[in-house]
Amino acid sequence: LLLPLGAFIAAFIIGMVVWLSRRRLSPLGELQIAVRKREFIVHYQPIVDLKTGRCVGAEALVRWKRPDGSLARPDLFIPLAEESGLITAITDQVIALVVFDLNSLLVADRSIHIAINLSAADVGTERVLPIIAKALQHTGIQPQQIWLEATERGFVDIEAARSALARARELGHAVAIDDFGTGYSSLSHLEGLPLDALKIDKAFIDTISTNSATSSVTPHIIDMAKTLKLTIVAEGVETQAQADYLVERGVEYGQGWLFAKPMPAAEFIAYCRRAEIRPPGGR
Ligand code: C2E
Ligand code: MG
Ligand code: MG
Ligand code: MG
Repeated sequence: LLLPLGAFIAAFIIGMVVWLSRRRLSPLGELQIAVRKREFIVHYQPIVDLKTGRCVGAEALVRWKRPDGSLARPDLFIPLAEESGLITAITDQVIALVVFDLNSLLVADRSIHIAINLSAADVGTERVLPIIAKALQHTGIQPQQIWLEATERGFVDIEAARSALARARELGHAVAIDDFGTGYSSLSHLEGLPLDALKIDKAFIDTISTNSATSSVTPHIIDMAKTLKLTIVAEGVETQAQADYLVERGVEYGQGWLFAKPMPAAEFIAYCRRAEIRPPGGR
């Protein structure tokens, strides 16, 4: 009698172990493991001088490299990361990766900057500033070469954002407002904020050379940014017609598929070298 009972218990335990190991982890569980195992990489999308085509820098865009080798785009995991608080650990990994990937490029060419996206949670605090400072220590990268991008969602507590971003600028970083025009903050809110640059959201670039209702807003955003003496970066530039319009309006920088898609670090380094020797005015 004992033998079949023992066999039954053993089979049950084995069954339980198999079931537990195959049970799908929750998305949050998976993300927690990804953070612990540092499964993130960064792709870099060139930012170019619209007049000359010269590469002036890049935006660091995080990707999650899953164990099966697939790359998950940030829209798939950043919202959960923000909700759960894991985003701060991801930001820290992105900072370390940028320094690791591009140290030699940034030291060799002081005119190149890398823009890092801050989550809303990190705009109203100085948390990342010592982390960046520590990452730059012993590298030769200058704080001026690290730009910080903050979306309007980070400005909910406007006083907290103001003081943290002012501190970032004191340390030498440039601060850009990202996805401008998509949030609820009005243009008038911008005045007096410690900003160096404004990134016009792709939605507004899309309207250039179409007759959609928003197309009339784009020139106002450009004029206002100029009045506030902000460097303008146009996001999501896909056509030559858009680039021509932006140059005509005096917009300095552009980023978009017309120039290049986000790419791994090694490709970005090669892209910068190629772009460097491009004859002026040539595209
Ligand atoms: P974003 O900061 O506005 O970044 C620009 C997004 O537009 C990128 O999407 C980029 O690949 C895409 N894009 C650029 N040019 C074009 C174009 O010509 N056409 C089209 N259709 N798309 C273009 P991506 O890489 O999927 O990133 C999406 C968003 O995820 C980013 O929007 C940013 O808000 C967030 N994100 C990315 N990396 C990080 C990060 O390290 N930390 C945080 N907190 N957020 C990040
Ligand atoms: Mg951005
Ligand atoms: Mg953006
Ligand atoms: Mg955007």
